[in-house]
Amino acid sequence: MRYAVISDIHGNLEAFKAVLQALSEDRIDGFYSLGDIVGYGADPSAAIKLLRSLDPKASIAGNHEWGVLGLTKLDYFNADAAAAVRWTTGVLDEKDRGYLKGLPLTHVSGKVTIVHGSLENPEEFNYIFTPADAGDSIIMMKTPICFVGHSHAPGIFRKRKGGTVEIFIGSKVDIEDGAHYLVNAGSVGQPRDGDPRASYVIYDETNGTVEIRRTVYDIETARKKIIAAGLPASLADRLREGS
Ligand code: ZN
Repeated sequence: MRYAVISDIHGNLEAFKAVLQALSEDRIDGFYSLGDIVGYGADPSAAIKLLRSLDPKASIAGNHEWGVLGLTKLDYFNADAAAAVRWTTGVLDEKDRGYLKGLPLTHVSGKVTIVHGSLENPEEFNYIFTPADAGDSIIMMKTPICFVGHSHAPGIFRKRKGGTVEIFIGSKVDIEDGAHYLVNAGSVGQPRDGDPRASYVIYDETNGTVEIRRTVYDIETARKKIIAAGLPASLADRLREGS
């Protein structure tokens, strides 16, 4: 079985469609969605509907879903993000809201755990950037693999039995028996690691590999839609830099 792991779509339909196009050659058997389907981008409702059409194996909530539902207070967000939460809240329909309400914060199946931020206190949406950040989640993992998003910075953390948490150098890792892997899928719709291409992951359960992939998309169309929607211009411009 091969799964695509997608996170932080953020209402960017151009990026989402480009990822699905890139995946069309990969014989994907199912999808994991790690949350923040909405927020920042101009197409939150269309992004939800496209995700639902994929019938994901698991789909969880991120802080932007919780913001839209009023479960995370707006003062958690910076000014631009809060503006995006308010705008998004106004454009979702009842079906969209109903779907978001039904999303859990974590999901475990087989060898995989998923959470938007971190496994310790998932409702706080903590960021994982460093091995030190990853440590608490890795200790809590009951499966060999945990996929996270939220930081918009793709990366692979590995802890071998008896070892410390280390950053795996490279984009494709072989899953070793007895080791734990915390994999940040990066962001489909708003990459922040200096690479503006959409980020996603392919998890090959049969071959025991996890690979971070990137794909180009139509950034200019996504930018123009954000500006036309009246969202903060900085949310449009950062897509060019991937920052
Ligand atoms: Zn996000």
